[in-house]
Amino acid sequence: MKVLVLAENAQTQRELAAGARTLGDEVIVAKIGGVPETGIADTAYAIELPEGQIPEMAADTVAALVDEVKPDMVIVEPTARLKVIGAAVAAKNDTALVNDVTAFGEGGEAESLYFGGLATIKRQPASAIKFYSCDGAAFANAEASGTDTVVDYAFVAPAHPVRLRERRELTHEGADLGRAAVVVGVGRGFGKEEDLELARELARAVHGEIACSRPLAENEQWLPKSSYLGVSGRMIAPKVYFAVGISGQMQHMIGVHNADTIIAINKDKNAPVFNQADYGLVADLHEALPALAAKLA
Ligand SMILES: Cc1cc2nc3c(=O)[nH]c(=O)nc-3n(C[C@H](O)[C@H](O)[C@H](O)COP(=O)(O)OP(=O)(O)OC[C@H]3O[C@@H](n4cnc5c(N)ncnc54)[C@H](O)[C@@H]3O)c2cc1C
Repeated sequence: MKVLVLAENAQTQRELAAGARTLGDEVIVAKIGGVPETGIADTAYAIELPEGQIPEMAADTVAALVDEVKPDMVIVEPTARLKVIGAAVAAKNDTALVNDVTAFGEGGEAESLYFGGLATIKRQPASAIKFYSCDGAAFANAEASGTDTVVDYAFVAPAHPVRLRERRELTHEGADLGRAAVVVGVGRGFGKEEDLELARELARAVHGEIACSRPLAENEQWLPKSSYLGVSGRMIAPKVYFAVGISGQMQHMIGVHNADTIIAINKDKNAPVFNQADYGLVADLHEALPALAAKLA
């Protein structure tokens, strides 16, 4: 079986290529707008991205590559743009992209969370080529292997181009949340944007990163959208997750259900977050955070 892997991040590319090796006997990686990792696949394709093109416009190029190499399975990293590309190429092949796979079973069925994480579902598309989005964590112990061959693959002009009008850099908070051991999650309990400094102080004290609930990113826009956790945001598995001023709605908590330890700080003793936390502190965050940061620094 031939597996084609597309990833944006080098480490995920390596993890997915390693996983693909456990699923198939031929592994191909492709990278849009950059040089792919070598030594992890049988062939690596570098897809050039002409000046002024956004990565999503490479969907026709990926479709051409799929037509050429004829993989049995395509796995894309579950980033927003690779999901767009994966879905577009799947549609061209008369099938759908199965998203956010957490594990592949013996028979090749893809397992993912269902009902917002209350259940799991196993699916296997009936199409000739199967398309999945999947994070590297699904293949924890797999080893990547391969050659250093890199083949340049020419960009195919999109049938429906989008014109790039402006490019603006997003501010990112710290390192990759997915790899942070300690994460301090902030919620609507922070009444003012400047109060987030209290959470940043705690994060500095425990060498952690800052994440948030959806309203802080989507409504208040105090933190980038890439920082919010939950069913429609990021799923992370840190060693410690501090849920501060977060009520503990299921849509948020599903994003941290793999955390080793959850510590909740909330002024309402009946907040649902306490039912899911390993440790709970009923306190006003304005008093609790400086005291904790001072103790833990
Ligand atoms: C389809 C759908 C998808 C969604 N996906 C997501 C998702 O992916 N991620 C996500 O996060 N949400 C998601 N939501 C929203 C989710 O349902 C909740 O509304 C949201 O998580 C609540 O955010 P919060 O806990 O920050 O705010 P709130 O629910 O308002 O909770 C604030 C908490 O802060 C406490 N508090 C207030 N002041 C203080 C203080 N001074 N000190 C200590 N504690 C204090 C309060 O007691 C309260 O418990 C989704 C909703 C829908 C409908």
